[in-house]
Amino acid sequence: MKLTRKPLAAAMLIGLLGAGPLFAASLASGIEAGNADPAVRAQDNLFQAVNGGWVKRTEIPADESNIGAFMTVFDLTQERCRVIAEALGDDATGEAALVRAMYRSYMNTDQAGQLGIQPISSQLDEIARLDGKPALMRLLGRWQGENRRVSLPLAFFIDLDQKAPTRYLAGVSQSGLAMPDRDYYLEQDPRFVQARKAYLDYLTASFTALKLDRPAQRAAEVMALETGIARIQWDKVKLRDPIAGYNKFQRGALPAKVRGFDWKPFLEAAGAGGIATLDVSQPSYVTALGALIRKTPVGTWQDYLRIRLLDAYAPYLDEASVARHFAFHGTALSGSTQNRPRWKRGLRLINETLGEAMGKLYVEKHFPPEHKARMQELVKNLLSAYAADIDTLDWMESEQSRRGAHAKLDKLMVKIGYPEKWRGYPGLVLDEHDLVGNIRKAEQLEFTRELSEINDPVDRTRWGMAPQIVNAYYNPVFNEIVFPAAILQPPFFDMAADDAVNYGGIGAVIGHEISHGFDDWGSQYDASGMLNPWMSEADKKRFKALTHRVVEQYNGYEALPGKFVNGELTLGENIADIAGLSIAYKAYSLSLEGKPAPVIDGLSGPQRFFTGFAQVWRSKIRPEALLARIVSDPHSPAEFRTIGASVNSEAFHEAFGVKPGDGMYRKPEERVRIW
Ligand SMILES: [Zn+2]
Repeated sequence: MKLTRKPLAAAMLIGLLGAGPLFAASLASGIEAGNADPAVRAQDNLFQAVNGGWVKRTEIPADESNIGAFMTVFDLTQERCRVIAEALGDDATGEAALVRAMYRSYMNTDQAGQLGIQPISSQLDEIARLDGKPALMRLLGRWQGENRRVSLPLAFFIDLDQKAPTRYLAGVSQSGLAMPDRDYYLEQDPRFVQARKAYLDYLTASFTALKLDRPAQRAAEVMALETGIARIQWDKVKLRDPIAGYNKFQRGALPAKVRGFDWKPFLEAAGAGGIATLDVSQPSYVTALGALIRKTPVGTWQDYLRIRLLDAYAPYLDEASVARHFAFHGTALSGSTQNRPRWKRGLRLINETLGEAMGKLYVEKHFPPEHKARMQELVKNLLSAYAADIDTLDWMESEQSRRGAHAKLDKLMVKIGYPEKWRGYPGLVLDEHDLVGNIRKAEQLEFTRELSEINDPVDRTRWGMAPQIVNAYYNPVFNEIVFPAAILQPPFFDMAADDAVNYGGIGAVIGHEISHGFDDWGSQYDASGMLNPWMSEADKKRFKALTHRVVEQYNGYEALPGKFVNGELTLGENIADIAGLSIAYKAYSLSLEGKPAPVIDGLSGPQRFFTGFAQVWRSKIRPEALLARIVSDPHSPAEFRTIGASVNSEAFHEAFGVKPGDGMYRKPEERVRIW
């Protein structure tokens, strides 16, 4: 399901943006031994032992905020996509012609330079013409489709109905901030104070570029308005509660149920005047937003909209706009000192707007059928390991819970590589000389189509990620796990390697995604995808007590000086990491069918398994980017993902003979066994 605004909550990693060196030479084991730090023992720090050599010698490229195994695979995939895009000639037709037009329009820097900010001038005029709050409400509605890329305080989207997942449902959700999270506006941490200063500079420079008077004063007013929006937004921990976030209302009841917001002009202008029901994800926010709209002068809203508009399209305008946008988003917020090469940014845009068109071209060349077959085998063994586990878990005692868990597992849908049915881009015509127009048209097509399909039967073949994306996800409303073609490459998945490393790599990823179906979030959805908690109260309590120890464990990891991992925010992902590793190990054991694992490169099977796990998380990240992740990303930083999951594993302690006094030792009674 493509959720245009709502991110996939269970995706494995966000912000996979990166370049890196080519792979170190692989051994038959699939382990890249050259990355190890021989001075560190796996018993003391598995992450450093496996990756420390690489960490020491690797520098983050100036145009990246981070680098690592994900980024290396991402980079290889990018290079391939570049070859594909650049080979498309004038004879390309259909979707290939769309990719060609989008790519060429992006690469035409001469034209972008000549046009300056002209490509957004008609939208700037629209803002200038706003003559009151009703007109403002109509613009906030109309731009949901027309300027989908512009982040507004309320985002309209179409999703499955979480309590009736055979149907679609329209919804609205909080949005509209320039910085990564509300904490950036509200907290006194000096790093956030500095980010606010950088944002004020960016705002002032943007108003100057728009040739408006009193730029500094306008900047201060927009900052105050955004701070007001941040204050009424729900925080990231509360956003993880799907029950609190499901509030379906009849269209006619909205004014009475979610008061203070002018629904009619907003919905009608969005093209959704005729919808029967609406899911208001954060009702208290919408009511407070209504009050904020009333008390803030139209002039301030106009300045806010000018900024949101320019911020959204700046990367596609002239060089000065691109540089100003990068100085704030790239340097101040992420720590990169240099923008990525233009072709990479062009491919990113294609992934965002024409993901499946490029995906189709990509898998034709780079996804052999035997990859899919071996993955299916791995998934099958992971599912058997889960099924066997359900009946032996200490914390899951009741028949009701076990039945619910088995049902979820039995009905789990597995998607590997690419969609069996491509979505297509019917009626879309792009122009090689109109970059901003192309972006708007492609995004509007998707919006209009989703809206027009709202009463259609749900299409379960749809994918939420393009095949060339290095990531994976669990989607609870489809009860499915999805592995795009691009993640099925070394070090995650290696056709030439022994099984141990594949189970430690992609096996742990598969286990991670399946586990989302049973964690504090996914277990609220049943086998059919309905928001319908099935676990018995007593089991839920035991699970909570168990996972409380996970919260405490990760709260203790200091990611930046004085800044600790948020154990609450990252709980679901940490559970998935711990469970995924444990189940993948069991599946690996099952795959041996009672035979002893061979010793390869001096490592036992179990040692290769954990080494394979650790090498997947090889990465380095700039402190600015790490800060943004700590406050807004539900995943723990890579080093703690490696260590945090392994210290809870009996098999890890056995594989390396970890003893009291070793850095990775955890007393048996302190190890958390979830699966
Ligand atoms: Zn996850």
